[in-house]
Amino acid sequence: CGIVGIVGRAQVAPLIVDALKRLEYRGYDSAGVATVAAGELGRRRAEGKLVNLERRLKDEPLDGTIGIGHTRWATHGVPNETNAHPHFSHGVAIVHNGIIENFAELRAQLKADGFEFASQTDTEVVAHLVARELARGVEPVKAAHLALKHLEGAFALAIMFQGDDNLIIGARNGPPLAIGYGEGEMFLGSDAIALAPFTDSITYLEDGDWTVIRRDEVGIFDMDGNPVDRKRQQSLGTA
Ligand code: GLU
Repeated sequence: CGIVGIVGRAQVAPLIVDALKRLEYRGYDSAGVATVAAGELGRRRAEGKLVNLERRLKDEPLDGTIGIGHTRWATHGVPNETNAHPHFSHGVAIVHNGIIENFAELRAQLKADGFEFASQTDTEVVAHLVARELARGVEPVKAAHLALKHLEGAFALAIMFQGDDNLIIGARNGPPLAIGYGEGEMFLGSDAIALAPFTDSITYLEDGDWTVIRRDEVGIFDMDGNPVDRKRQQSLGTA
């Protein structure tokens, strides 16, 4: 399982798939990619190997210079296209590695608030939590931060928003997640190997960190919202 995010300059869907291939060693049962193009979210997902996703993208290409991608190792919900990430809710797109331990409780609350679930995954609650904050009038970065505060369990997450082609939010609590620094483009990935084609300038998030990534800007914060300093390394080390 793995995560890739790119706030880039070129068409990102093929770049994301190539980076996901570098994470194949972790194992997976399905894969998907989402982008924002002309303000709209789009996605392609496929069960099985990345070649299936590539075939989907060949038949129906996905435009966009910002995107998030995922290889899934199913823990909650069978491996099929519907359960494959990215998951969407009202203009929010999410990919997740790990397990949201309190998903059943969150799911019940969100259903009571009128959110409809499209998948059997634990992950989908995160998309709805962010969407619920947006519906309350909270701006995207703050909405993601508030949503993260509800989560218990292990996660690496990447979050993207309809209407914003210059924002990806990442979060780590358990599974690794690294920021990759480019020139006028920024990257997220499960490890430095995934990001090696793009950059060797890397910062691994620590548990409890979340990050706001734009083409020319990276911020790293703790769960209280305070900025934190994390070492930038020039290597292919893993964490
Ligand atoms: N628990 C999530 C799911 O079953 C994420 C699994 C993963 O780490 O890929 O969809």
